[in-house]
Amino acid sequence: SGTSRTVISRNFASSCARLNSTLAFVETSGKTITPSSLSALTAATQLGKPITAVLLGSDSAEAASQLAKSSKINKILVSKSEKYDHYLPEEVSPLITNLLKDGAGDFTNFITPASAVGKNLLPRVGAQLDVQPVSDIIKVISADTFVRPAYAGNALMTVKSKDKQVLVSARGSAFPPLEIDEGASVPIEEIEYVESGNITEFVSEEIIKSERPDLGSAKVVVSGGRGLKNKEEFDKILNPLAAKLGAAIGASRAAVDSGFCDNSLQVGQTGKVVAPDLYIAVGISGAIQHLAGMKDSKVIVAINKDEESPIFNVADISLVGDAFEVVPELTEKL
Ligand code: FAD
Repeated sequence: SGTSRTVISRNFASSCARLNSTLAFVETSGKTITPSSLSALTAATQLGKPITAVLLGSDSAEAASQLAKSSKINKILVSKSEKYDHYLPEEVSPLITNLLKDGAGDFTNFITPASAVGKNLLPRVGAQLDVQPVSDIIKVISADTFVRPAYAGNALMTVKSKDKQVLVSARGSAFPPLEIDEGASVPIEEIEYVESGNITEFVSEEIIKSERPDLGSAKVVVSGGRGLKNKEEFDKILNPLAAKLGAAIGASRAAVDSGFCDNSLQVGQTGKVVAPDLYIAVGISGAIQHLAGMKDSKVIVAINKDEESPIFNVADISLVGDAFEVVPELTEKL
């Protein structure tokens, strides 16, 4: 493996001869770029340096050709090796580390979405390069200075990296997705698999299939809490409203823990962070851990029978009432 790394590194060194640039990790789902990666690419443009995007896995070529139309990207690297399918960090991090090491002086910045994949990859790359990553940034101040939340979003810290290479992950909901302007034809270069010595193996995954839009990127989210009593009522009250609005369904942790829905729908500090145009919270009290996942939504509607409920402190539109009466009425009127 030592030999193959040396050979590949020469290729990298010649292919990445770009001073002071950003390497952006772009995740795909099927043949398309994930919304959180498009958001991370917007953050990458704000670093103000030429961008090399890297896409991995057997489906990556098609996504790369979509991205190649963007005038915001300067170069695309693709490895179609199926070893990169499922993005095992043990496989992906040696390749990223190699690119960053061999492009020393070239790639000053590395960015990944703060998705499950990005969160899995970034610390590993940081450890391999002995660099302190800055995770979950919500604002770029300059190429080495960022704003990131702490204490479930109750404090915002401004962090300046002193490392030679700056590694960050970008929170999807904090940056609009990159719009691919179809104004360019960016060169795509194929790169080889980097031997990893990995001994872990992908076995299987169970993904909840839903007709509703993806929670992380939906423009409208309808969320339910413990106030909806049980799974049957949760579905009966929320599904018709979500269908009317073309919304994703979310939930509080209490709703998830009570078995009303799958835990992939949890919004909050230990769930997903969303910032849709419209967030409707039904029977959710508004604990800080829930607010951490939705308070940046553009318009917040809260429906709760308790007028003292803290959710009303962050709501733009407050409806005090029994969800079992007002939500069906609202759905009917819509
Ligand atoms: P409750 O607090 O029980 O509120 C139910 C609400 O429904 C009440 O306000 C009530 O007035 C209202 N209600 C009842 N009946 C009706 C009705 N008929 N019509 C209208 N309204 C009604 N929580 C999260 O959500 N996400 C997280 O990621 C998360 N992470 C956490 C991490 C840690 C470390 C900890 C300690 C906690 C975390 N929590 C999280 C849990 C959080 O503290 C709250 O317990 C949880 O959010 C409460 O959920 P809820 O609002 O659905 O339930």
